[in-house]
Amino acid sequence: QAHVDAVEALNPTLNALITVTADQALAQARAADAALASGDDRPLLGLPLAIKDLFCTKGVRTTAGSRILGPFVPPYESTVTANLLRDGAVFLGKANLDEFAMGSSNMTSAYGAVVNPWKRRQDADAVLVPGGSSGGSAAAVAGRIALGATGTDTGGSIRQPASFCGIAGIKPTYGRCSRWGIVAFASSLDQAGPFARTVEDCAILLRSMAGHDPKDSTSADRPVPDFAAACARGVRGLRIGVPREYRADGMPGEIEALWQQGLAWLRAEGAEIVDVSLPHTKYGLATYYIVAPAEASSNLARYDGVRFGLRADGGDLRELYEHTRAEGFGEEVRRRVLIGTYVLSAGYYDAYYLRAQKVRALILRDFTDAFAQVDALLTPTAPSAAFAQGENMDDPVAMYLNDVFTVPASMAGVPAMSVPAGLDGNGLPLGLQIIGRPFDEETVFAVAAAIE
Ligand code: GLN
Repeated sequence: QAHVDAVEALNPTLNALITVTADQALAQARAADAALASGDDRPLLGLPLAIKDLFCTKGVRTTAGSRILGPFVPPYESTVTANLLRDGAVFLGKANLDEFAMGSSNMTSAYGAVVNPWKRRQDADAVLVPGGSSGGSAAAVAGRIALGATGTDTGGSIRQPASFCGIAGIKPTYGRCSRWGIVAFASSLDQAGPFARTVEDCAILLRSMAGHDPKDSTSADRPVPDFAAACARGVRGLRIGVPREYRADGMPGEIEALWQQGLAWLRAEGAEIVDVSLPHTKYGLATYYIVAPAEASSNLARYDGVRFGLRADGGDLRELYEHTRAEGFGEEVRRRVLIGTYVLSAGYYDAYYLRAQKVRALILRDFTDAFAQVDALLTPTAPSAAFAQGENMDDPVAMYLNDVFTVPASMAGVPAMSVPAGLDGNGLPLGLQIIGRPFDEETVFAVAAAIE
């Protein structure tokens, strides 16, 4: 009830949830109460969560932040949300996001921008973005509406909002969580993961979300470890790499200082700090913004006005497609579909898409080489703290630069987590990113817990 009240009190300002499922939440909570009384000890029993509105939820509208899915009510439950329900979670509602998870600010949602609960010390009137694309999930947790939330991360959409909102969030290894029933953006990059106030809470949520699923051919058939136990391991004897290419020109001094502080904390806890090189980092953003739109243009071809959601008037079939897509997709989604279609077209495929795939292999090799020397990497999560609504809006490339530190781990498929590490001069939270070996989320959690 306290969380349902918080939704009522805060959601009109934060716009963190697109759909509120208060009645369902209270019914689930009552059932959890009864189960608890009879000795049920499922790990998430009665815990109120927000679910990114990219996860299909049976009988509950799922919009993906797009007008084109406005009327869509899935007849099935995504595997990740089914796993959370299996373990006793309560769902407060569906969290706002950038349209089809394309964005870093939550400004591209067809359901209005999300407001970051944090305020700048100077210029307290500025309305700050929560980051994106999982901005509603992050704002719901930071605003104390929900105890935890699900997100998805294709190029940083869990880590960057976690950093902007002062909470923890992890993108696990590609394949750790099933993608079945999650609205697809870029299928070779999309991964689900949790947000929570603490590293340990993220570990508990991830254990429930993860696991092999025969319905997703890229889901990994591996045992799911007790991630929460790993949080207490400490970092003594671990080798932590500092990738020198992440020292971007023009990185604010505060972020560089926080990075050094994080390294100092780890050194004090017994870790060894090692300089490493990821030489292809500088191509990460450029290749991501070819591969992700290419896959998106293909995935979004299914929104034709016939099978899902919105259907516009059209004389013939072609007009039906055109009108539905013109009415249903926002500007950023159209931009991605155009870029993606272009780089996949016959005359340009080799020059752009194929080349980007080759560079992607080199980015993965960088990580493989680095992990021969170190157990994890530490970097800043984002090149800035939360910015104000309207900032970075005129130039899509300026917006894409937000992802410079998060996309390489996505391209390589390796696990990466953002942990709150300090505040900037305006009192705004800043996160540090821990990147781990494939399927070694446990070390990522251990390092994150040592920084937190
Ligand atoms: N900001 C990146 C993009 O716009 C990443 C989004 C995501 O991870 N879903 O593509």
